Amino acid sequence: MCKGKVWLVGAGPGDAGLLTIKGRQMLEHADVIVYDALVSTEIISTLPTGTEKINVGKRASNHMASQEEINQLLVDQAMSGKKVVRLKGGDPFVFGRGGEELEGLTEQEIPFEIVPGITSAVAVPAYGGIPVTHREYTSSFHIITGHGAIRNGGMEGSRIDFEALVKLDATLIFLMGIGNLKMICEGLMEAGMEKDTPAAVLERGTNAKQRKVVSTIQHLVQETETAQLHTPAIILVGKVCQLSEQFAWAEKRILGGRQFIVTRPQKRSSKLTERLRTLGAQVIEMPGIETNALPLEPVIQALKDMTESVYQEEWLVFTSPVGVITLWDMMREKQFDLRGLFTADAKVRFAAIGSGTAGELENRGIIPDVIPAVYHGEALGQAIAAKAVSHARASVFRAREGSQLLIPAMETAGITCRDIPVYETSMIQNPLLRDQVTGLFRQSEIDAVTFTSASTVKSFTHAMADSIDYRSVKAICIGEQTADEARKYDMKILVSDQASMDSMVELLIARFGYLEKR
Ligand code: SAH
Repeated sequence: MCKGKVWLVGAGPGDAGLLTIKGRQMLEHADVIVYDALVSTEIISTLPTGTEKINVGKRASNHMASQEEINQLLVDQAMSGKKVVRLKGGDPFVFGRGGEELEGLTEQEIPFEIVPGITSAVAVPAYGGIPVTHREYTSSFHIITGHGAIRNGGMEGSRIDFEALVKLDATLIFLMGIGNLKMICEGLMEAGMEKDTPAAVLERGTNAKQRKVVSTIQHLVQETETAQLHTPAIILVGKVCQLSEQFAWAEKRILGGRQFIVTRPQKRSSKLTERLRTLGAQVIEMPGIETNALPLEPVIQALKDMTESVYQEEWLVFTSPVGVITLWDMMREKQFDLRGLFTADAKVRFAAIGSGTAGELENRGIIPDVIPAVYHGEALGQAIAAKAVSHARASVFRAREGSQLLIPAMETAGITCRDIPVYETSMIQNPLLRDQVTGLFRQSEIDAVTFTSASTVKSFTHAMADSIDYRSVKAICIGEQTADEARKYDMKILVSDQASMDSMVELLIARFGYLEKR
């Protein structure tokens, strides 16, 4: 009996939101994910960091695996006991060769499940403002492969029965047909279809950089060539195509047509990503930083010291939400009760660098005494210095490699300072994602990269491993400290007015919004 199992999952046509909930769940549980060229970079960027991934569709470097090799790979992976997700563009059974992959599995009695996906045949027209059926124009639609339509170098032996298609008087959807566009349009006209029948080519539909040409079957070839549309694209023939102007919507979204990279601050996905997607942008999340707690004894000891304080004030200073979360985890682990601090003679004070960190303290019933006006280590130190009494001590619970400006700003004011590292950060790399993102930068398809801390700049440049020219990167930075880091790489810098997510989103809208109206 095979202990492994294969899930054939449809990824949809590109927009990450069009991956089904069940598909997403399967990806979270997989031991290995096997995907190919049609799966969008946006979706690839959301795959779980720790899971093994295999790209079987690397066209550029001639590494594209043959169908036999893919079938064998699935069998081998499952036989070794793994939960395998085979992630395919659109729906696995719509010209997805899902059937062939299953044959290999059934021969070996490997268990499997199918998670259908949203097929490009229907979603791509929808994102182009074209309903595939409409009461007034058509009562059926047909999905046809345009691949291999020409045999023996011409119409002869063509597998497409154009006469039959013309008789249907329906919406015709050709997948894999761009290479044979001329033959398809001519075939339809020769079989008696009106030359002025509306027709369209829709390229990379549902993605930020989707493009379309809407014309007639007579002029479609010429116009597609002029616009230089390429694969992946679908060809749509039928009266419904004329609705595309009236029903166009994707480009009209506030951030429609825009593609951003968000450097993920932690393992979990960022709220900024959600906001930008809601506004219509496509967002690629780059792997960020992993945080790991340091040994807790010295940290707990530092807290215990405070319970017998000889100072007038004890300040607990936090420079990141993770710092707060990690410290509280440590207190729970060691069963250290925070009330111990308040029984000492010293007044206990709390300081947070910004609203995110303050929020974590507030969640724990503590309203910080100090939050500086600007999100900056030095500003935090100065704000504490301005408020603290002369005989005070500050304990900074933060990352091992924290800002060097914070503590001097307090020490000059006579405050006794202790740096107490509670966690350390390490940067994550994902070479498969890097290759794809590099390609997007080279084609100028990344509008901007957002940075929410200096360390996200570091993790981004680490993840990209110098495979792009940073001078062409538009960096949207949350504050001056972050911008300073981006300046080291000569990026083009824009700084948000305030150190908040809202302010960053406002800046992105001001700079990139309403593409349609520009
Ligand atoms: N199983 C996929 C189709 C695979 S065949 C599905 O259900 O969508 C590959 C063809 O699908 C491409 O040649 C192209 O015609 C079409 N296609 C897939 N994604 C597309 C997209 N985002 N935009 C336009 N066409 C797409």
